[in-house]
Amino acid sequence: MAESTIFEISSPGRVGVKYPKCDVPEYELPKTLVRKQLPMPEVSELDVIRHFTRLSKMNYSIDSGFYPLGSCTMKYNPKINEVTARLPGFALTHPLQPVDTIQGNLALMFELQDWLLEISGFSGITLQPAAGAHGEYVGVMIIRAYHDDRGEKNRRKMLIPDSAHGTNPASSAMSGFEVVPVATDKNGNVDIESLKSVCDENVAGLMLTNPNTLGLFEQNILEVIHIVHDAGGLVYGDGANLNALLGIVRPGDLGIDIMHFNLHKTFSTPHGGGGPGSGPVGVSKHLIDFLPSPIVGIIEEASEDFPPYYGFVEPKKSIGRIKSFNGHFGMMVRAYTFISMYGKEGIRKIAEGAVLNANYLMALVQDKYKVAIKRPCMHEFVLEGHWSTAPDIHALDIAKRLMDYNFHPPTNYFPLIVPEALMIEPTETESKETLENFADALLKIADEAKNEPQLLKEAPHNTPVGRLDEVKAAKDLVLCCWIPDNLN
Ligand SMILES: *Cc1c(COP(=O)(O)O)cnc(C)c1O
Repeated sequence: MAESTIFEISSPGRVGVKYPKCDVPEYELPKTLVRKQLPMPEVSELDVIRHFTRLSKMNYSIDSGFYPLGSCTMKYNPKINEVTARLPGFALTHPLQPVDTIQGNLALMFELQDWLLEISGFSGITLQPAAGAHGEYVGVMIIRAYHDDRGEKNRRKMLIPDSAHGTNPASSAMSGFEVVPVATDKNGNVDIESLKSVCDENVAGLMLTNPNTLGLFEQNILEVIHIVHDAGGLVYGDGANLNALLGIVRPGDLGIDIMHFNLHKTFSTPHGGGGPGSGPVGVSKHLIDFLPSPIVGIIEEASEDFPPYYGFVEPKKSIGRIKSFNGHFGMMVRAYTFISMYGKEGIRKIAEGAVLNANYLMALVQDKYKVAIKRPCMHEFVLEGHWSTAPDIHALDIAKRLMDYNFHPPTNYFPLIVPEALMIEPTETESKETLENFADALLKIADEAKNEPQLLKEAPHNTPVGRLDEVKAAKDLVLCCWIPDNLN
C-alpha cells in the first residue's frame, strides 16, 4: 500500500516553491505573536499533486459513478453551476455590504424565491435554512407560532407516519412537540383509521412526505390533508422527494400548508461532502407573517427607467432569524442556474425522467428481489434485501458487494418499516445503459447470494478500506491528521 500521510514522503530541505529574495527589510516578530513551530511536510509540488490525487481517488462520488442512494436524490451536479457560483460579483460579496451595493444578488434571491413559489404553489418563502432538517425545524416552529398566536397552546401533538425520515420526529421533539406515530396501510399509504384515531383538539399538525419514503404517491392525500385540517391541525410537507413532482403536482395546490425544499437534492446543488445544503421553506397565505426574518422583498417597484429596488423585509409575527446572514448564498446561485438551464418546459421533464428511470430499474430487478410494495413507483423504490434460500445474507451484504461492481450502495435499513430495506433512487440524470449495468450487478449478486454467499459476506474486496465500524467512526471521530512522533 502507498504512503498514508504526506509526512511519510517528507524529505528535509525539499520544497515546492522558491520565493524571490525578500526586497523589504526583515523584522523579528514580537514574542507574543510567535506561535510554536508546526511540523510541516517538506515535499515538491509533484509530491503534493500525487498525494492529493491519490486520496481523491479513494472517494466515491457522483462524478465517478452511479450513486442510487434512496431519498437523497444524488443527481449529477452540472458544472455550469460551479462557474456561475464563482463569478466574482457573487462569490466576493460580503454579507454585511450595504443593500444598494448588492442589488444583483438580491434580485437573484428574489427570483429564486419566486420560481420556487411557482414550482410549489406556495405564497411565501424563506431561503435561510441550511438544510432539509433545518427547514423542518423552522417549519414546525412556524406551526407552533401559528397555534400559539390563535391562543391554542394546547396543540402540541405532531403526527408522523412510521415511514418518515428520522429528521421529522427529531425536528418535532426539538421544538417541544410530542411525536405521535401514524401507521402505514398495506398499499403503502397513510392508514386512514390510524390517522383518525390520533386526530383530536391537541393536534398541531402532520408531517407528510409525498411521494413517501417507499417511493409511492400518497393515494389518499386529499383525504389525509382534510382529516388533519378538520381537526384544526396543519400539514407539513417534507419536500425531500419533490423531484418526482416537478412541473406536475404543486404541493401548495394539494392543501399542504408548509414545506421545505432541499436545493441539494432536487435542484442539483452539491450534496454531502461537496458543500453546505440549503433548505428553503415555503408557506401558504395564512403562515406568511410567521416566516423567519429577514426576507428579500421589493422595496420600490420598477419604473420605466429603473429595475425594482430590493431590500430586506420583516414578516409581522416572524419567528426571528434562524441562520446567520441570509443562508447559503452560493447554493442559491447554483439552484438558480439549474432552474434557468431547464426552463419552464424542462422542469417537468426532470420529474418524468426520474420516475421513468426508477420504474425501468425496478422492472429489471423485480424477478430476483422482492419489491416492498408492488405498485408503480415514483422516483424511487424499496426492495427487501433477503431471501429464504440464502438465510445468512442481509441487505448490508448486498450493499457491500455492489461496491465490488463499482456502484455506490443504495440506502439500507431505511425506511424502517421494510425488513432489510434497500432503497434505490436512480434520478433522471442516468442513462439507460447505466441503469442496465446496475441491474445486471444486482441480478448477479442475487445469484451469488445463493451459490457463493461468502463473496457477499466478505465484501467489499477492492476498496481502499473494507467494512468499517461505522458506529465507532461516528462516535469516536478523529479530525486531526496524524503527526509523526519525531516532529511532535
Ligand atoms: C434528506 C431528507 C431529509 C433531510 O434533509 P437534509 O437536507 O439531509 O437535512 C428529510 N426527509 C427526507 C425524506 C429526506 O430524504
